[in-house]
Order: sequence, then C-alpha cells, then structure tokens
Amino acid sequence: MKTLILRNMAEVKKALELSDSRNINFIPTMGNLHDGHFELIRKAKKNKNINLVSIYVNPLQFNDIKDLDNYPRSLDKDLKNLTELGVSMVYLPEKAFNLNNTSTIQLGEIANKLCGKNRKGHFEGVATIILKFLLLIKPGQIYLGEKDFQQILVIKKIIKDFNFDLEVKTIPIIRGPGGIALSSRNQRIKNINNLKKVYDCLCKIKIKIVEDNFYMKDLEYFEDNLIKSGVCKVNYLEILRESDLAELTSVPSKCRIFISCNIQGVNVIDNLSLKKVCFKEGGRLMTSS
Ligand code: AMP
Repeated sequence: MKTLILRNMAEVKKALELSDSRNINFIPTMGNLHDGHFELIRKAKKNKNINLVSIYVNPLQFNDIKDLDNYPRSLDKDLKNLTELGVSMVYLPEKAFNLNNTSTIQLGEIANKLCGKNRKGHFEGVATIILKFLLLIKPGQIYLGEKDFQQILVIKKIIKDFNFDLEVKTIPIIRGPGGIALSSRNQRIKNINNLKKVYDCLCKIKIKIVEDNFYMKDLEYFEDNLIKSGVCKVNYLEILRESDLAELTSVPSKCRIFISCNIQGVNVIDNLSLKKVCFKEGGRLMTSS
C-alpha cells in the first residue's frame, strides 16, 4: 500500500475519520531516522494496524535556539525509508500546528529530574506537543524507545492524568558498534570513540553493582574519569528507581543508570537497566535476586 503523506490537521482527520482508534499505532519522531526508529516501526507493524509516523522537530522542547537550528534533518531520505518500510501514513506538521499556542502542561516532579534539571521546560514542551498529537490522531497504541526513558514516564503520566485510552509499547535501546546508543544527533560527533566510552562507563558501573561492589559515592569517581580523560562534560550520572526516578532506598526496586553529557557541543543521553532489583544499604548498592 502507498504511504500517505499528511501535512496538516485537516488531512490527518480525513485520513483517519473511518478508523477505529484501536487500530491506529502512533510513532512520534523528530526525523533523521535511524535503526532505533526503524525498530519501533517494525514492532508497530507486527499487529497489522495503521502505522502513523510523525516527523516534527518540536521547537517547544528546545531551550537552546542553536540546538534547534542545528538539529539534523534529512526529510527526503526519511520519507524514502518510511515508504520502503511500508508505513501507512507520515504526518509532517506544518508551522500552524503550534503557531501562537501559549498553553502548556504542568508536569510536576518527574519533569524536574535528570534532563529536566538543566533543560528547563523541556518535558513540558514534549508533553504539550504529544497531547496535541494524541487529541488529533486518537491512537490506540503509542510506540516509544527506552533511549528516552524519562520521556516514557512523562508520556505515561499525561496518558493517566488526562484519561487517554492508550497503550504504551516500548523497545529497548538499539545500539550500534561499540554499544553506542543510536541517535539522530550522533552524526554531529566527530570522535565516535567518546560515545563508546560513555557506554563503557555505564557497563563498568553495572558490573560493579552486579558484583555487590558499588558504593553510591563511586558515581563521582566515574564522572570525574569521563571529564578528566576529556571524553565529555557530564550533566548528570545517576542511579534511580525506574518507576518514578526517585532516589534509591532500602526498599528493593528496579533501577537504572542514567547519563547525560555533552560531547563536542552535542547533547548525548544514555541509560542502562540493571535488570536486577536493587536496594541501598548504608552507602552501598546491593542487588537481590
Ligand atoms: P526522536 O526522533 O529522537 O525524538 O526519537 C523518536 C522515538 O525513537 C523516541 O521514542 C525515542 O526514544 C526512539 N529512539 C530514538 N533512538 C533510539 C534508540 N537508539 N533505540 C531505541 N529507541 C530510540
């Protein structure tokens, strides 16, 4: 079937007017697509629904205009790939989608952690645009990658708080050679080796935790190491509870290592699940099977 290109809200409404929400899969992206995005689409395609991919570099989630201008765009290539993958519809919102829109969402605590700390208003910008998409498209399923783990929690929150009847489907992080997390921004980084070192750092922390040989203060050592060896500027390196990004306590819970850093002026995020249930005992992080 031919891939339908939709450019405004009227076209989206018309294309979906006869469709049952339960049969609509929504895959939001900012374009410059890579295998991480393609994996989301492959997963979405498994249930034979309508697959609607959006490509929209959302200005509301950028607090640095230079970062927005420099965000890599490759629309022709993206459309070719999406057509080859057999995506049913691609929505390319035009400026009017969010022109003069001053209403935004308040998210509370979840938006102030991790990436929300040094990117004020970022998640409110994400949530506002996702809300607009959900109201327009009315999907039954939304597909999201764990690369943006905090974003998944934010989107789950608006789904719950605004009573959307919508299932969240997720995929693990798709990695390239050396374990680097694929990202649209990676092409702006000349020294790819630095990206590998960021992933190595997460793996080394995980090994120490699994061996029950990790103290929370060791995070400083790993952070210093990345900075002193010139790999990157670290925005944060934290281990938090997966369900709500709370600090770890003596109560066993699933947790994850999160990092955000800056390599050659490019924002990089990554995370690694510990798979095991962890708890804090004194300053030490313990695992329980
Ligand atoms: P973006 O275009 O960066 O806004 O990402 C669109 C969707 O693709 C989000 O749900 C991301 O989490 C997901 N995504 C991006 N990169 C990856 C990756 N390497 N692995 C898994 N999902 C990804």
